[in-house]
Amino acid sequence: MIDVHAHMNDARFDEDRAEILREIKEAGIARLINSGCCLMSCKDTLKLAEENDYIYAAIGIHPQEAADLELGGEAAWNELLEMLAHPKVVALGEIGLDYYYENVSRPIQRKWFCAQLELAEKLDLPVVIHSRDAMQDTLEILRAHPNNRGILHCYSGSVESLREILKLGWSISLGGVVTFKNARVAKEVAAEVPLDRLMLETDSPYLAPEPNRGKRNSALNLPYVAKMIAELKGTTPEEIERITDENAMKMFKMA
Ligand SMILES: [Zn+2]
Repeated sequence: MIDVHAHMNDARFDEDRAEILREIKEAGIARLINSGCCLMSCKDTLKLAEENDYIYAAIGIHPQEAADLELGGEAAWNELLEMLAHPKVVALGEIGLDYYYENVSRPIQRKWFCAQLELAEKLDLPVVIHSRDAMQDTLEILRAHPNNRGILHCYSGSVESLREILKLGWSISLGGVVTFKNARVAKEVAAEVPLDRLMLETDSPYLAPEPNRGKRNSALNLPYVAKMIAELKGTTPEEIERITDENAMKMFKMA
């Protein structure tokens, strides 16, 4: 199984990180893409990827961390470029728009989202997008960047927006939210998305699926997500696992 989006560098793993990373590997998680959010967490992500053969890196600046680029000038941009050249980097991300928290203004978020999309195109890297309460602007920016490809991680939009995203050639990844009892839209999205455009993620340590909702999440919980999506699609968890793994390997060209 492949977890295409996790933050194993998070402080919530500081006490037992080595142990849980070993358990995840032993549980049969074949690949895990750890995602950086700011320059510091990108550095930590590369370290995890160097130390663990099954961990790959997504390197990029999250909209809420855009101050890193806005204030860091050329030095920060060059640091980002340097990290993106690491051999275990398989994606640029997570980047995007977050209008739920507005500690960074919307124009500044949009500016650095676009700049990083253009960088990903230049580097021929797939993109991992974070979009929260900002679907219309996200879609507009993706329409203006037709040569990018990638996933909208932890997709939380409507079925209508999903259809737009699919038309633009993007895929989505889904995690614990699909297992929540009240997550009607997420379940509709899971039922609707074609299997060849879907991947699985945890967003660890966040969003643990039922029956572990509210606890610290890890890839050990990924089978609960596969099981729920299989139920919603009327197929087996094995089939969900096989196809989503194939999609992830193809999208992120992992060795
Ligand atoms: Zn994330």
